[in-house]
Amino acid sequence: MKSKIVAGNWKLNKGPQETNAFATQLCELLKTELQTGAPKATQLVVFPQTLVLASAVQSFSGSSVAVGGQNIYSESTGAFTGENSAAVLRELGATHVLIGHSERRQIFGETDMLLAKKMWMALKAELLPVFCVGETLEQRQSGQTESVLTAQLQNGLAGIDRNETFWVAYEPVWAIGTGQVASPQQASEAHAFIRSFLGKTCEAPILYGGSVKPENAMAIAQQPHIDGFLVGGASLDPRSFFEIAKNLK
Ligand code: PEP
Repeated sequence: MKSKIVAGNWKLNKGPQETNAFATQLCELLKTELQTGAPKATQLVVFPQTLVLASAVQSFSGSSVAVGGQNIYSESTGAFTGENSAAVLRELGATHVLIGHSERRQIFGETDMLLAKKMWMALKAELLPVFCVGETLEQRQSGQTESVLTAQLQNGLAGIDRNETFWVAYEPVWAIGTGQVASPQQASEAHAFIRSFLGKTCEAPILYGGSVKPENAMAIAQQPHIDGFLVGGASLDPRSFFEIAKNLK
């Protein structure tokens, strides 16, 4: 059985001290869990803001929790003031990176074409990219969910070998940070669609994201095609992040 994944997107939250306090508390909870003989069945990753990355890697060193970046630029060096390089993220100890989070698409205008370059750049730097897709409420209500997902996957994964190691996160925009979680059936249908788009030989796990909390995680996780979660708000508290992971086992 593949292990499930719980990833925490901290967005623009937590400085070095808060990160360190979070790591201490989460590692304590994980240690207690292991002492009770529970299997270590869930992969955990946190995505702090880039400024905190090096200290987050330090804070989680020796633990089973991986650290990833929230964004990279599509080029690795050059005259791109203010951007962050995938290679440097990797050098600082990041192992994963989010690509195409809806906030990057909507607030920063990132296009599918740019995201395809970022996917390629992440893989080149040996970072594991988590490619985020999802429809807006308007798109869902007008029956465009599948066509939106198809376009995002087709364009964003253009030129990416399906045997490369990457994850996909299905995050309906209307569920992100709204408290309006997708129903287990809505999540499962979208995941089944993404799984069939990716093809039988592609093993990329598909995570659900959008208002996941300890109280609703279990019902979604029990559906087919759900390989884990990308969690925003509820990942800021070590106990609720831990509870979501615990419920997945
Ligand atoms: C996210 O930002 O990826 C996310 C899923 O946020 P939230 O869990 O707060 O909806």
